[in-house]
Amino acid sequence: MRRKLAAGNWKMNGLAADLAQIDMLVAALPSCDVDVLICPPTTLLERMSRRATGIFTGAQDCHAATNGAHTGDVSAAMLVDAGASHVILGHSERRADHGETDAAVCAKLLAAWAADLVAVVCVGETQAQYESGETLDVIRRQLAGSIPDGPTSARLVVAYEPVWAIGTGLVPSLAEIGAVHGFIRAELAARFGERTAQGVRLLYGGSVKPGNAAQIFAVADVDGALVGGASLKADDFVPIVTALNAA
Ligand code: PEP
Repeated sequence: MRRKLAAGNWKMNGLAADLAQIDMLVAALPSCDVDVLICPPTTLLERMSRRATGIFTGAQDCHAATNGAHTGDVSAAMLVDAGASHVILGHSERRADHGETDAAVCAKLLAAWAADLVAVVCVGETQAQYESGETLDVIRRQLAGSIPDGPTSARLVVAYEPVWAIGTGLVPSLAEIGAVHGFIRAELAARFGERTAQGVRLLYGGSVKPGNAAQIFAVADVDGALVGGASLKADDFVPIVTALNAA
């Protein structure tokens, strides 16, 4: 049985005052039987980790090195030191804004695992790739290049996030989501074995909202969601977590 996971990616949003959202989340979730993860900006990570009782906290990126002359970067060990248990890696915004290649993401995963972080690795096609029917080829390439050998189901989560669905209000059809998630699990099984593949949680990400969450969570092989905009306010995120709990 895979334990479901509702993950929030705050991206570059959030000041100290927004930690009140975490208090509301903690108050609203005691009866939930799913894992809840919030990945705030690094500046809030330690403070959020201290007050997020019953909620995992994570980061949105890490450097591949353990320490050294990398101005502005943060290592996986530093994130653990600040209270993180998870780290999002290979988000499409980092791939686009910072030119992160699959090889770079792969090196970061190794660093994350060495520090005992759970890696939430993101894959997904652009709109042009979607329209030209390349989705599965892109996903296959990103999985092969971004995930190193040696994953366990406890330390790897894969998020399918079509780039064209992120922050746009657009969502693939439920059949498309199911097909890609099934494909991802089959790819993981072919490379790492059925046992590992069956244990890895697969999240859907891209314009998940309170109004569409339940439908998406009913799709086979969807074990939760990676949520951007709708994770910023407890009023939006709690109904998503509740829908996952009921799925
Ligand atoms: C994301 O960026 O990971 C994401 C899924 O964003 P949104 O939910 O806002 O589309």
